Amino acid sequence: MLSAIISLIALPYAPNALEPVISRETIEYHYGKHLQTYVDNLNKLVVGTEFEAMPLEEIVAKSQGAIFNNAGQILNHNLYFTQFKPVTPNPSPVTPNQLPIFKAIARDFGSFEAFQTEFEQKGTTLFGSGWVWLAADKDGKLVITQEPNAGNPVTKGLKPLLTMDVWEHAYYIDYRNRRAAHLHSLWQIINWDEINRRYTE
Ligand code: MN
Repeated sequence: MLSAIISLIALPYAPNALEPVISRETIEYHYGKHLQTYVDNLNKLVVGTEFEAMPLEEIVAKSQGAIFNNAGQILNHNLYFTQFKPVTPNPSPVTPNQLPIFKAIARDFGSFEAFQTEFEQKGTTLFGSGWVWLAADKDGKLVITQEPNAGNPVTKGLKPLLTMDVWEHAYYIDYRNRRAAHLHSLWQIINWDEINRRYTE
């Protein structure tokens, strides 16, 4: 009997809530079609394998091939879509800020602005499809990694905190070929309380 073990996550905001940074149409395709397809694929692929009923992060850590590609993309998109909040009309500067994640960014990158510059540069220069990540090692030290295709820093023993999706499906409706402009715009909707929660949990 088929039983869906991995479900599509719920979005913590309305489909149009991230406009104008991410349009409702992009959410409808990216979340409603691309992520749904990865979920449907994985639920079919794991039937009768050792991965059936395994937690998603463990599947990503232990699998290869098609199961890894679909499981990785589900984990990546779950972290991606739950890290955003609506644009605030008059956002206050994010620095200085006493949240542990901001202190760690200043410690490990020199400043918040230097971190943003390096993050955007690594996202812009990642050739082809993939993800750029802010991740923490077991001592809490922060690193930025470039992961091709379905890659996630959990496969390197790192804790994923923040990510930007550089697959064209993430930005082509709204930004066409302007990946760098899309990445730069995403800072407006990052929910730093959520990133800090992931860092400190
Ligand atoms: Mn994507």
